[in-house]
Amino acid sequence: AKGGVGKSTFAVNLAFALKNLGKKVGILDADIYGPSLPKLIGKNEKPENKDGKYLVPVDSNGVQCISMGFLVEETTPMIWRGPMVISAIKTLTEKVLWNDLDYIVIDMPPGTGDTQLTFAQDVKIDGAIIISTPQDIALLDVKRGIQMFDRTEINIIGLIDNMSFFKGDDGKKYNIFGEGGVENVSKEFNKAFLGKIPLHQDLRISADKGVPLTLSSPDHEISLMFKEIAKKITEKFKN
Ligand code: ADP
Repeated sequence: AKGGVGKSTFAVNLAFALKNLGKKVGILDADIYGPSLPKLIGKNEKPENKDGKYLVPVDSNGVQCISMGFLVEETTPMIWRGPMVISAIKTLTEKVLWNDLDYIVIDMPPGTGDTQLTFAQDVKIDGAIIISTPQDIALLDVKRGIQMFDRTEINIIGLIDNMSFFKGDDGKKYNIFGEGGVENVSKEFNKAFLGKIPLHQDLRISADKGVPLTLSSPDHEISLMFKEIAKKITEKFKN
C-alpha cells in the first residue's frame, strides 16, 4: 500500500516469525528505488556472483536475503526509468539462486506500478498481504491495491492493520491513525483480516538497530503477534 505504513518492517519481522515456526524463508526486497532490507537486517554485503550470471542471496541468521541495496551504495539514488527498473526486477525474479525454501516474502514498493505488474506477470505469487495504517489517506491505497491484485488474479491472503493503536504507560489505547479502518475495508471487499499490530517503540528501535524484533526477542508481545499472523499464513498454505 502506501509508503511509510510499515511494509518493510512487517515483511522482515514476518520472515523471522516464519523462520521461528521452523520454515525455510527468504526475503526479496523488490523496492528498487528505496531498498531498506540491508538496513533492517544490519547487513550490507555484495551477493556472490555465480558463473557471472546468478546472485547468491546474503544470509541473515538463516534467512536468505536479496535486495538492490546490496548492489548499490546506500546513499546513491537510483535515477532509473521504467525499463531499467523492469530489468532490475527481472534479475531479482529470475537470477537469484535461492536454496530450498518454503516461503519467499516479497517486500513490494508502495503503489500499483511497474514492480507489481512485472511480478504479477513473471512470477507465480501464492498470495499478497496488504499492510496499512487505519488512516483514510492510506486506505485509499489499500483499495487500489486490492483491485490491482484482483485484476492480476493474485490471491489476497489478507490485510494487516499496522500502527493500529498506541498503548500508553497509563494503560490506555490511543487510536492515533483512527480505528477499524483496515478491518472495514477488508469487510467491504470480502477479504480476510489478519490482525492488528500496535505502534510500538521497540519495533522502531529494532528496525533502526538492524535486528528484527522477531529475531532478537521472539517472546516480545509484538513478536507474539507476528507469530500468530505467521501461523495464520502457514495454515492457509497447508497442502
Ligand atoms: P514502508 O516499508 O511501508 O515504507 P517502513 O517499514 O519503512 O514502511 O516503516 C516506516 C517507519 O515506521 C519506520 O521507521 C519503521 O521503523 C516504523 N514502523 C513501522 N511499523 C511500526 C510499528 N508498528 N510501530 C512503530 N514503528 C513502526
